[in-house]
Amino acid sequence: MKVKRIPLIASITISIAMFLVALFIEYCRNYLNLGWELWIFIIIAIILVQVINYLILHRLFEIFSKRQLKKISKFLPQHFFKRPDSLSSLNLMEVGEKVSRITQRQNSQLISMKELESYRKEYVGNVAHELKTPLFAIQGYADTLLEGASEDPEILEKYLFRITKSVDRLLTVVSDLDMINKFEAGEIVLHQENFDINQVVKEVFEVLEGEAQQTNAQLILDSPNTQIFVRADRHKIFQVLLNLTANAIHYAQRDNPSIIVRTNIITKLVVISVEDNGMGIKSENLSRIFERFYRVESSRTRREGGSGLGLAIVKHILEAHHQTISAESVYLEGTKFHFTLPAVPGK
Ligand code: ADP
Repeated sequence: MKVKRIPLIASITISIAMFLVALFIEYCRNYLNLGWELWIFIIIAIILVQVINYLILHRLFEIFSKRQLKKISKFLPQHFFKRPDSLSSLNLMEVGEKVSRITQRQNSQLISMKELESYRKEYVGNVAHELKTPLFAIQGYADTLLEGASEDPEILEKYLFRITKSVDRLLTVVSDLDMINKFEAGEIVLHQENFDINQVVKEVFEVLEGEAQQTNAQLILDSPNTQIFVRADRHKIFQVLLNLTANAIHYAQRDNPSIIVRTNIITKLVVISVEDNGMGIKSENLSRIFERFYRVESSRTRREGGSGLGLAIVKHILEAHHQTISAESVYLEGTKFHFTLPAVPGK
């Protein structure tokens, strides 16, 4: 067994102290001829020994902990012992607490780094998937045309039209991604103005008229007033209504699809809702539909041309306006999205 210096000094000190007490008591008993006073001497001697032992052990422990701290400090980050907590002002307990705080912080950093990494992988995978589909289509049509199909003017026109559609799809995905990135980087500046929301709804209906006709969908504006004025970025709110109404048409899947956009003033806010009688969304999927690239349905029923980014953009636009959007849905019966915008007072 290796003899340690500090415990050795401690044990020698205690032994010497006990020996001195014994000697002192013996002296008092034999030479001073004391009666009850002897006990007072004994008690004083014990207290003195106690104090001396305490002081010596305390000093020894200080020396011991400083040495241990010096050893530990080699393994700790450089900034750890810098002011205000320099090495001399720390004790082992504080170091223990600091180390455990650092470990906890590093653990949570590690968890969020892992989450970020898996999110990054998923994101890159999703982007690649969205770009791959139209790119492969373009490649397929171009190859067929190069192999001689271009000699038939009808096929040439048909394939060129399909190539253009795929290019449009690529552009949509890229510009949607660009928009989301700009929102997340805080680079989007809103151009707020007062405008009539009912007028914007009518413009959206005009743009989507052709698509609505293809499915016989009825587009209805339901509002208590002819005009309802809001303060917001007109162009971006147009985009919100366009995405929501286009989704309502695409996920209609009914014999008599009807899409109702309602606008109404409730105190200082204008409430806008887009409601359809389409396929609906199961409750377990409802909370995720605003995530990027999230799609509820399988590829069979998936909306052609959709990037899975439409609702994520809608959410970003409304958040930039300090407003929120929520969705209610009954599976196979229909879905209703509603959001608010600040009303223009007196209008
Ligand atoms: P997408 O490009 O796929 O339409 P969105 O972000 O616009 O992407 O929508 C995300 C998903 O939410 C859609 O894939 C669809 O499953 C679901 N969804 C959105 N709107 C509706 C709706 N009105 N009815 C049913 N499902 C909807």
